[in-house]
Amino acid sequence: MCASETPSAYLSDDVDGGPTGGDGQARSSKDESGRKRKLEYPPAPEPLAVPVMDNHTHLNFRDGLVEVSVKDALDAAAAVGVQGAVQVACDLESARFTVRALDEDSRLLGALAIHPNDAPLYAGRGELESALAEIETLAAHPRVRGIGETGLDYFRTTGEEEQKIQQYSFRRHIDIARRLGLTLQIHDRDAHDDVVRILLEDEQPPRVVFHCFSGDETLAAICNEHGWFMSFAGPVSFKANDHLRAALRLARRDLILVETDSPFLTPHPFRGRPNASYMIPYTMRAMAAAVDVDLDTLCAAVAQNTVDAYGSWD
Ligand SMILES: [Zn+2]
Ligand SMILES: [Zn+2]
Repeated sequence: MCASETPSAYLSDDVDGGPTGGDGQARSSKDESGRKRKLEYPPAPEPLAVPVMDNHTHLNFRDGLVEVSVKDALDAAAAVGVQGAVQVACDLESARFTVRALDEDSRLLGALAIHPNDAPLYAGRGELESALAEIETLAAHPRVRGIGETGLDYFRTTGEEEQKIQQYSFRRHIDIARRLGLTLQIHDRDAHDDVVRILLEDEQPPRVVFHCFSGDETLAAICNEHGWFMSFAGPVSFKANDHLRAALRLARRDLILVETDSPFLTPHPFRGRPNASYMIPYTMRAMAAAVDVDLDTLCAAVAQNTVDAYGSWD
């Protein structure tokens, strides 16, 4: 495949459609301010010479104009030097999808949880305990290496009662990760202080990853001190996010990871378009520029860190 062409599995002639439904969940065809998004997948970047892994993607989420299989998504990623991914579940439906996908393709590892914004919904139906029990059962799969994404989201969940449920659910996930010896993958939106406080109050799981790291140098210094991984996504490439690049520069080189959070958080210059693991090289190049280090050197470090965080893909 030549650089600057969209991978064929992501191409469609259907210019009027929205995200296809299928069995999975679909991302909205409008952005957060209600504007219609451009739904064509961006062109593929120049391949990376030193391969890395995408440690946070949601293959169950449909976006764009086409439905892409797990195999095609991972083939497109491999063609640009992204040799594996961690498929992340946010609810029971996507947790079951994840375990099936792990059996289909050895380039995937998995992480399972009830998302902090979903925890109050499960609790409201009286189903949070049974959902956590099923997450723990499914997490026995040998290729599930993470409990996540869990944590706190005070941006989307604003009620005091709901935030209490998030905190309870977060602690339960910490306990599951610790008992199963799995990596804790944290979603932290507008909740840095409480996330850090709860992590330090509870007995720690063996490894902790801040997915889509959204803090500044203060949080990066805390992560450095405790050996918590910091995973950077598309926003590190956005012009306004100097605080993320400052945090990245301060981050210990052995704690830096890269992710897409696809289909969300598409890197510059394709913000708002659908995202996929094959887009990782755009973010890696923005990170190398921010740290002012050779791209291959940073890719080698990130690849090693990803194995340190989740274990081997073999
Ligand atoms: Zn998240
Ligand atoms: Zn996510």
